[in-house]
Amino acid sequence: METLEFQAEARQLLQLMVHSIYSNKDIFLRELISNASDALDKLRLATLQDGLEADASDLHIELEADPEARTLTVRDNGIGMTREEVVELIGTIAKSGTAELLTKLKEAKESPELIGQFGVGFYSTFMVAEKVELLTRKAGTEGHGTRWESTGEGTFTIDDAPDAPVGTTVTVHLRPKDEEDALYDYTDTPKIREIVKKYSDFISFPIRMGEDTLNSMKALWARPRSEVSDEEYHEFYRHISHDWSEPLEIINMRAEGTFEYEALLFLPSRAPHDLFQRDARRGLQLYVKRVFIMDDSRELIPDYLRFVKGVVDAADLSLNISREILQQDRHIQMIRRRLVKKVLSTVKDLMNNNPEKYATFWREFGRAVKEGLLNDSDNQKAILDIATFASTAGSEPTTLAAYIERMKEGQDEIYYLTGDSRAQVENSPHMEAFQAQGYEVLILTDPVDEIWVEAVPDYDGKKFQSVARGSVDLPKDKEEPEPEGDFAPLLTYLKEQLTEQVKDVRLSHRLTTSAACLVSDTDDITPALEKMYRAMGQ
Ligand code: ADP
Ligand code: MG
Repeated sequence: METLEFQAEARQLLQLMVHSIYSNKDIFLRELISNASDALDKLRLATLQDGLEADASDLHIELEADPEARTLTVRDNGIGMTREEVVELIGTIAKSGTAELLTKLKEAKESPELIGQFGVGFYSTFMVAEKVELLTRKAGTEGHGTRWESTGEGTFTIDDAPDAPVGTTVTVHLRPKDEEDALYDYTDTPKIREIVKKYSDFISFPIRMGEDTLNSMKALWARPRSEVSDEEYHEFYRHISHDWSEPLEIINMRAEGTFEYEALLFLPSRAPHDLFQRDARRGLQLYVKRVFIMDDSRELIPDYLRFVKGVVDAADLSLNISREILQQDRHIQMIRRRLVKKVLSTVKDLMNNNPEKYATFWREFGRAVKEGLLNDSDNQKAILDIATFASTAGSEPTTLAAYIERMKEGQDEIYYLTGDSRAQVENSPHMEAFQAQGYEVLILTDPVDEIWVEAVPDYDGKKFQSVARGSVDLPKDKEEPEPEGDFAPLLTYLKEQLTEQVKDVRLSHRLTTSAACLVSDTDDITPALEKMYRAMGQ
């Protein structure tokens, strides 16, 4: 037997669990069932795709309570873990962002969403346990299984277990009964039943206790929306997304005919912490005729909609389809196109019918959605239709359509200025004349704005025009060019002095209070873009 230490971050997280930071302790059971369900999915998939020889005929989860011994056991006959995997998966937290989570958790004592977002999963058992035992054997391996044990206080022991069956058994040794905490007796059958029904009803494998199966196993996406409660949708959302907060919007889709599929999608109400990290998990779950095939299928949804969570269940794919084949598959590409259209039209509906939800959506995900302007030309218009931008016209963001409606006589371009912040843009000397003459200017402050305004030709026939660029932007300039008159000698002098620094020096209507400002040529890049390229080392 070996005694090992939890990795530092794991240890801190366990401390938080042991000194329970969350009042709803019931969820530890959901986490164990969720892991068991994942393990069963993995075993089934390995037999289908990798030719693993294992018995997949009666995949199930078993619960067993012993009030005398005060234990609750969750057993699955799924994929199991090797000794190395147990040490690696249970002893460390590899997830990116854990350190950040820990800091936040310490600041906010009561923050269930944070835990959910990072999916501490297995460790949540230490909210109710004084000791946890895990017995496991990996399917398809020879030799012994593994026993893992810990009280959650810094170390765990690990040992060979010669007679462990294939799969995983987790035994939770519950803390002594607390008189005040009578509600929380997790050896109480009705209580267990209630928790399973509430959190794990949709799990697609039977969850058995004694002779009974506790869950209905109904695939949520296959049931009519009218028959599914919000609670059920939310639980399912939590199961697949590890996000504790409620989804913003639920989308059901069903296609019949030559190529059948069902989809259940969720728009989250909050951006995940890693929305802009390259290695973040993204993609949808793929099922084929109710059989789980893969997580994080990127082929089903483009990157700019990577925050969308959900399930696609396709009827006509092969069960052993690989990621490589998925990328080529015509039907998958068709489903992807439909999902994109549906997501964008759902956001448009929110915009028209539920401005508050729309505002939340755009605040959280607008930055990501705008990436689609660069790489999904088919949907450029649809994306611009649902986009809103800060503007000099007021504190509320505006749509492009509303901007165009407010355009002044003679104005035929959409004016914008990019920058790091609203304040910076508003105080730019480039703004002065536009402000003074009452022209509205869009204030674009997301990094991606720099790029798409260059790439998108126009909206509704109106070109995007940076106010930091070109010589004649204002209709008034076109009408009456400023006579150089008395200023000619000054201009000549300045041009001589600044030959190295600027191309030209000229009079302008742009400024009302500042003495001078730098502008780019029409074809030059904007100052902010120049800065960005420089930062990127180009
Ligand atoms: P998550 O489920 O979000 O990955 P958990 O803390 O719940 O995080 O579990 C950590 C890992 O331990 C899982 O990803 C899985 O690889 C492994 N694991 C946990 N429970 C089981 C189980 N019953 N069978 C097989 N592997 C498991
Ligand atoms: Mg888990």
